[in-house]
Amino acid sequence: MNIILLGPPGAGKGTQAARLVAGRGLVQLSTGDMLRAAVAAGSEVGRKAKTVMEAGQLVSDEIVTGVVSERLDQPDVRKGVIFDGFPRTLAQAEALDRLLAEKGMRLDAVVEMRVDDSLLLGRIETRAAETGGTRADDNAETLKNRLGVYHEQTAPLIAYYGGTGTLRTVDGSASIEEVSARIAEVLDAL
Ligand code: AMP
Repeated sequence: MNIILLGPPGAGKGTQAARLVAGRGLVQLSTGDMLRAAVAAGSEVGRKAKTVMEAGQLVSDEIVTGVVSERLDQPDVRKGVIFDGFPRTLAQAEALDRLLAEKGMRLDAVVEMRVDDSLLLGRIETRAAETGGTRADDNAETLKNRLGVYHEQTAPLIAYYGGTGTLRTVDGSASIEEVSARIAEVLDAL
C-alpha cells in the first residue's frame, strides 16, 4: 500500500511513519530527510536547498519532484511507500499523480494528521531541545514561517485529496499511541 501522511510541521508525521515502517514493512520516503542528506553531502541539490530550508521556505517543486522520482525507481518501494512531507504543494500533488501512473503505482490513502497551530509550537520546542538543535529549522521563528507556508501552500491538498476520495483525517493532537491506533484503523479498513 502507498500512503501520504499529510499535516503541519510538528504533527508527528515522522514518528508515525517510523512506526508504520516497523509495523507494516513499508518504506518511509521523507523528502525532508532526503534533502537534509543532500545538504550534508554537499551535492548540487543540497547546495540549492540549504538556505531555503534554513528559512523554513519550500524547496522548488522541480528539485523535490526530481528527488522523489529517483527514489521511486529503487526496488524497495515495491513494499509500499509512506510519503512523509511530500507532496507539499498542488503542483507536487499533480506531479506525484503523474509519477505514480508512470511507475505503475497507486495511492491508497492520504492520512491527514490534524493538529491546531497552538499545540505545534510547544512540540517543536520540545523536539529542538531533544535533538540538541541538530535541525537548523527547529526554532520558533522558523516554525512560524513553516506554519504559514503550510497553511498557504500545503493545506489546499486537503481539498485536493478530499475530491479524489482518498482523504482520511485523524486527530493528531492525541498521544502517539492513540494516533497510531487511529491510523491503523484507517489502513486496516482500506
Ligand atoms: P520536513 O523534515 O518534512 O519538515 O522538511 C524540512 C524542510 O525541507 C522543509 O521546511 C522544506 O524547506 C524542505 N522540504 C521538505 N519536503 C519538501 C517538499 N515536499 N517540498 C518543498 N520543500 C520541502
